[in-house]
Amino acid sequence: MDIDFETLRRDTPGCKGNIIHLNNAGASLMPQPVLSALSGHVELESRIGGYEAAAASEDAISGFYDAIAALLNGHRDEVAFLDSATRAWHAAFHAMEWHPADVILTARSEYNANMVSFLHARKRYGIEFRLVPDTVDGTIDTEALRAMICPKTRLICLSHMPTNDGLVNPVEEVGKIAREHGLPFLLDACQSAGQMPLDVEAIGCTMVSATGRKYLRGPRGTGFLWAHADWIEKLEPYALDIRSASWCSASSYKIADGAQRFELWENNIAGQIALGEAARYAMAADIGAMWPRIQELARALREKIDGREGFSVHDQGTIRSGIVTFSHPRLSAAEIVAHLHSRHTINTSLSASQLTRADLAARGVSHMVRASVHAYNTTSELDALVEALVAMARQKDTGLPHANKNNKASNTSIGVEQ
Ligand SMILES: *Cc1c(COP(=O)(O)O)cnc(C)c1O
Repeated sequence: MDIDFETLRRDTPGCKGNIIHLNNAGASLMPQPVLSALSGHVELESRIGGYEAAAASEDAISGFYDAIAALLNGHRDEVAFLDSATRAWHAAFHAMEWHPADVILTARSEYNANMVSFLHARKRYGIEFRLVPDTVDGTIDTEALRAMICPKTRLICLSHMPTNDGLVNPVEEVGKIAREHGLPFLLDACQSAGQMPLDVEAIGCTMVSATGRKYLRGPRGTGFLWAHADWIEKLEPYALDIRSASWCSASSYKIADGAQRFELWENNIAGQIALGEAARYAMAADIGAMWPRIQELARALREKIDGREGFSVHDQGTIRSGIVTFSHPRLSAAEIVAHLHSRHTINTSLSASQLTRADLAARGVSHMVRASVHAYNTTSELDALVEALVAMARQKDTGLPHANKNNKASNTSIGVEQ
C-alpha cells in the first residue's frame, strides 16, 4: 500500500516552517496528534489536578500498553513505560542475576552507552563481555556468534540499528541462535522502532528496549521495555516501589506481575499517553510502507553525497536504514553540522565514529555528520542538503565566501557550535 506522504507532512507542524529536519535518529518531529495528546494531558493536569487527570485518563494510559504491544506483536502485560531507552535497557540488564565470570556476547556495532555499561558491569559484577566479529559488511557475524557461545554465556545483546551507522543487524538469525541455546537476547531497538516493522515473535528476542522520540516520533523523555512473558518471572527489578511491588506485611513484599515490575509509581503520564498515540499514529501511517521509502531516500542521499567534492559516506551494511553518515577531509564534522544549522536551517547531528571502526580510525575520521531521514522528508530537502554541502566544500577549497545572498558575513560563523 502506498502511504500518503503529503498527509504525513500536513500532520507535522515542524514541516510547515522553513527547517529541514534530518535529525530523526536524534529526535523526530512530532505529528499533531502526538503533540495534542501531550499538551492536552498537561493542560488537563493544570486544570483539574495531576492525580485527578490521571484517574480521568485511565483509558488513554491503558491504551499505551495496547499500542506498544501491537507495534511489536507482543502482549500488553509484557510492556513497561520508562523515561528513556537507556532506562529501559538498564531495567532489563540489572534485573538479571549476575555472577563473576558470566559472559555477555555483543557486536562491535553495539551502542556506546551499552558498551560503557558492560565495562561497568565487569567492574561491578566481575562479568566478562566479548565482541563477536563483524562480517565484511559490518553486521554481526552470526556464525562467529554461534561458535562463541560457551557454558558461561548468559546474555546476547545487540543493537538492531546502530546510532552512527546505516547498517541493519540480522536480528532474526541472532534470535534463532539465542533460542537454540535457551539464552536471553536483549535487543536495543532504539533506531528501528517506528522505522521498520518489528515482530518480537519472528525476531526471537527476549527483551526489547526503545525510545519514544526517534523514529516513533513520540515526545522526549519517553521509552519502553518489552520483556517476553516467559522471562519476566526470572527478572528481578533493581528498584522496587509501590507500583513495581506491594508491601504485604512488616517483613514481606510481592513483586508485581508482568512488566509492571519495571515501572515506578511516578511517571510522565502525558508522555506515556503521547507515546501510545505515536505508536498508533505510526501503525496507521503504515510502518511497512514507510520503511522502503526511508530506505530509498537514504540510498539516494548516500549516492548524491559519496565522492562529491571530497565527501565520503561511511555507512556499512547490505540492508541499510535511514541513517546516513559522512565526512570531509578538510571540513570538521562539527563545523559542517553548525554551518548547516545556522546558515541553512538544516538539522543534522554530530556522530562519533565508533572506537571499533578500524577503517575510520586508519583514515583519521573521528567524527561524522549524521543525516537521518524519515518518511516525511522529501527529495527536495535532500537536494538542499547536498547543495549546501557542495557550496561549503567549494568555499573551503577556493577560500571564497559562501554563496549566501542573505548574509554577507556567512563565513565568519563557521565552526560555531550550536
Ligand atoms: C539513542 C539510542 C539509545 C539511547 O536512547 P535514550 O532514549 O537516549 O536512552 C540506545 N541505543 C541506540 C542504538 C540509540 O540510537
